[in-house]
Amino acid sequence: MTLAETTRSTMQACGVSADLAVSGGMDVVSPVSGEVVATLAVHDVAATHAAIDQARAAFKAWRMVPAPRRGELVRLFAEELRKSKEDLGRMVSIEAGKSPSEGLGEVQEMIDICDFAVGLSRQLYGLTIATERPGHRMMETWHPLGVVGIITAFNFPCAPWCWNSALALVCGDPVIWKPSEKTPLTALACQAVLDRAIARFGTDAPEGLSQVLVGGPEVGEALVDSENVALISATGSTRMGRIVGPKVAARFGKSILELGGNNAGIVCPSADMDMALRAIAFGAMGTAGQRCTTMRRLFVHDSVYDQIVPALIRAYGSVSIGNPLTSDALVGPLIDKAAFDGMGAALAEAQALGGTVHGGERHDVEGAASYYVRPALVEMPVHDGPVLRETFAPILYVMKYSDFDSVLEDHNAVGGGLSSSIFTTDLREMETFLSARGSDCGIANVNIGTSGAEIGGAFGGEKETGGGRESGSDAWRAYMRRATNTINYSRDLPLAQGVTFDI
Ligand code: NAD
Repeated sequence: MTLAETTRSTMQACGVSADLAVSGGMDVVSPVSGEVVATLAVHDVAATHAAIDQARAAFKAWRMVPAPRRGELVRLFAEELRKSKEDLGRMVSIEAGKSPSEGLGEVQEMIDICDFAVGLSRQLYGLTIATERPGHRMMETWHPLGVVGIITAFNFPCAPWCWNSALALVCGDPVIWKPSEKTPLTALACQAVLDRAIARFGTDAPEGLSQVLVGGPEVGEALVDSENVALISATGSTRMGRIVGPKVAARFGKSILELGGNNAGIVCPSADMDMALRAIAFGAMGTAGQRCTTMRRLFVHDSVYDQIVPALIRAYGSVSIGNPLTSDALVGPLIDKAAFDGMGAALAEAQALGGTVHGGERHDVEGAASYYVRPALVEMPVHDGPVLRETFAPILYVMKYSDFDSVLEDHNAVGGGLSSSIFTTDLREMETFLSARGSDCGIANVNIGTSGAEIGGAFGGEKETGGGRESGSDAWRAYMRRATNTINYSRDLPLAQGVTFDI
């Protein structure tokens, strides 16, 4: 079977009926082999506006459905996701080049957030707050917000959509999804699985409750510019966020920005070296370095540098690289040529600054016209140049440190503020890293790597990562509007702050 045929049969198994061979449409290229696996019709700006109108109408009905009943739809969706886990996981591998276990892991994340959202649908609680006025009660209530536009990146073709949509749906909001133009098939497959749940749920679910728009940045821009989209949740590069954030703010819309990171680890003298080695290897090489939480910088105390760095270099030299659909290789392909070129340029820049590069060369896999590389570990004499920015490829810059306070300074001296980890068994170092003068990232871990977050916690980061939070904890609040209500059940009209106004 060709990859295009496998794609077609997997899409059919998910329930997708769309034409996957539209003449003159948008090609979808698999990074696994470089083949075109489908050609899709794209939505234009007019179609985007029509989708927004439909979602607005859906909002009027959906906001009146009781939240626990809305949760029932998400519960059914989780059931359908469980049935389609293998097929959706395969689509992630075909479109994003992830290993089967990472593809399935991404679908599991969708199931997990649905389970979380179902429980949440019976909460969505506000506070009752002490009031200074006798015979009064003050409370806050949370109401559905409106249409939610979800823009996603190629490297997680489905989980971030579900982090947003599972919460948005229980919060009473319709969703419109603009997936990456590099991974639209997984999006269509997810929508087909959700459509099965909607069909089982019945007529309480209005038309247009969840829609997918296939297309490039111009479709995202139409969502971003529309005053009828209450919340834009955008996942992608900091470059994209710099455009999207100000546009949404200018129209007083709400946004959740989940942007690039430049995540680091610190290996301290007391670290469990074997554990650190394994955590760093997964954090830096997993998903071929194409996770927002990929470890990109590593600071190693000079007293243990020779214990861990040679072992890491050996791991980089021997890690298996290959076709994620036909082998059990740990490292799959880069998404495309641009990613490969970006990696080469960053390595050349690092070398010019005195870096010693181990790995980084193109790797032939079955003669495929795609871009497999050996992950690169670069021993850097300086914390400078390409080290200071995110290159979305498997490059780990390794630097020596001797002073804990200065390594904390270097750790935080980059634009990205997403994820971080420290490897130590020293309580003082650990607590300092997690304290107000420690890591300035949204995620700070101890003795685990930078990637692989669980859905129960809020996910997101500071600075150029955009400041958004998704997924667990109280991230649901971004999908609702808060009203403060004060009720007077007395026979008097006392004014707050002792103000008098007697007429
Ligand atoms: P990208 O910024 O190129 O594209 C992301 C999405 O934004 C795509 O759907 C694209 O069509 C859309 N887009 C681009 N320009 C737009 C515009 N002007 N208006 C509206 N939409 C626009 O990112 P990518 O290459 O697909 O993904 C890799 C990047 O995403 C990396 O920087 C990575 O760190 C980041 N990322 C962040 C997170 C996170 O949660 N923080 C998660 C995954 C990926």
